[in-house]
Amino acid sequence: MPTNENQQKSSSLRGFEPYVTSKGEEYMSENMRKHFTFILNNWKQALMQEVDRTVDHMKDEAANFPDPADRASQEEEFSLELRARDRERKLIKKIDKTLQLIEDEEYGWCESCGVEIGVKRLEARPTADLCIDCKTLAEIKEKQVGK
Ligand SMILES: [Zn+2]
Repeated sequence: MPTNENQQKSSSLRGFEPYVTSKGEEYMSENMRKHFTFILNNWKQALMQEVDRTVDHMKDEAANFPDPADRASQEEEFSLELRARDRERKLIKKIDKTLQLIEDEEYGWCESCGVEIGVKRLEARPTADLCIDCKTLAEIKEKQVGK
């Protein structure tokens, strides 16, 4: 499935070393904030490149298939790609919001209960705005509403 592959590629975070907290360093120190700004900017750039690449690719390939069956499968492929791009655009917005939080020095605390989200969790999920407990709870609620 090409969509899954794309999703994995764009959500994988490359090019950073896990943050090592120095002795006595307070949570979300300036260095820590720089670390996450770096990660988020890298991620955002990778996503934006992905979006550009797809647009080029679709321009190149559009209307290259005279056979209607080929065209149909091409359209299906495009619509899958467009949906993936839509997800990426939303993610980019979320990253921008997160970068603003870092600037306001409000990044890294749970939006719901106020505890520290933690460096490890944030490195795995830099746009997380809930601690693991609140996130789990929110997911359970979401499932109940969904059914
Ligand atoms: Zn919480």
